[in-house]
Amino acid sequence: MAKTLILKVDPENPSTKELERAVDAIKQGKIVAFPTETVYGLGADAFNELACKKIFQAKGRPSDNPLIVHIDSFDMLEKVAHKIPKSAFKFMERLWPGPFTAVLEKKEEIPGVVTAGLSTIAVRMPSHPIAKLLISLSEVPIAAPSANLSGKPSPTTFEHVFEDMNGRADVIIDGGETLFGLESTIIDFTKDPPVLLRPGPLYIEQLKEIGKVTVHEAAKGLKALDRPPSPGMKYRHYAPEKKLILVESKEKLKEVLYETPKAILICSKELAEKLEYSKTIIIGSISNPFSIARNLFKSLREADKIEGEVIIVEGFEEKGVLFSVMNRLRKAASEVIR
Ligand code: AMP
Ligand code: MG
Repeated sequence: MAKTLILKVDPENPSTKELERAVDAIKQGKIVAFPTETVYGLGADAFNELACKKIFQAKGRPSDNPLIVHIDSFDMLEKVAHKIPKSAFKFMERLWPGPFTAVLEKKEEIPGVVTAGLSTIAVRMPSHPIAKLLISLSEVPIAAPSANLSGKPSPTTFEHVFEDMNGRADVIIDGGETLFGLESTIIDFTKDPPVLLRPGPLYIEQLKEIGKVTVHEAAKGLKALDRPPSPGMKYRHYAPEKKLILVESKEKLKEVLYETPKAILICSKELAEKLEYSKTIIIGSISNPFSIARNLFKSLREADKIEGEVIIVEGFEEKGVLFSVMNRLRKAASEVIR
């Protein structure tokens, strides 16, 4: 792979000039890592089969794990999906642009590699200024999974992307830290009623106010499923290199911590103040659940960098955005203690 081009771009007010070389790369069938409001994505022209194959190669991603296609407008939506039900429009009109992905019937023109051979396609209209401008200047929908090596925690900063994708991506856009730090909420509208497949930055309570939606058992992240709703959901995800133990019971946490030699603790500010354990990474504050979501993947990557052998992470009450945090932690953990 040729040398990776790094482009520093203003995340709030990106210019056409700043993005010019990234746009050229997309048009030439190359792969570009770019920030979105959720996590960084690794993108290619969704109509270009060869370009999309490069994404799988760069990430080491199994070919049966489908990508999300990013669009900039409802006009572009028509190029990738069809037979869209009214229920989907209700959600899309309320939540786009934003951290929300709709699974819809796929148009023929989208190559099978993008959707892992499925007849459905996952579509999102991001709100991040860089993502929006990159798509509209490229004039094509951009297929992009998270810009991490397959299985690793999703990247929420430029440094994370550089660590995983330098020498693998053609271009990496440095647009600072992402806003939510958690991948998009996914709802499958090819089912009636629609099904929440993956919880994300949006609360389930919020979603249910917009329209009817049922929650798939996979959304809790509790166990490996025999028949996952998307083939990609059967893989272990978000995992740090070190062994990760998730302790869901508040009573057991202290005990587990002191029984485990060479442990690193990841926990809330509130618990850190109580335990005063030497090797602690503060993930955020219970009083601000979004801070916990935002620092989740960053904390896992940080724990891999410091001395210690096992990571112990606090479990949180599954309310609001912390429901989504628990989904990720359960999938990342090698052991869960309840
Ligand atoms: P990532 O962007 O890395 O979070 O990966 C995209 C995820 O979107 C996949 O792992 C799937 O879980 C989900 N996804 C993509 N396409 C579909 C689809 N057609 N049906 C259901 N889920 C999908
Ligand atoms: Mg991913």
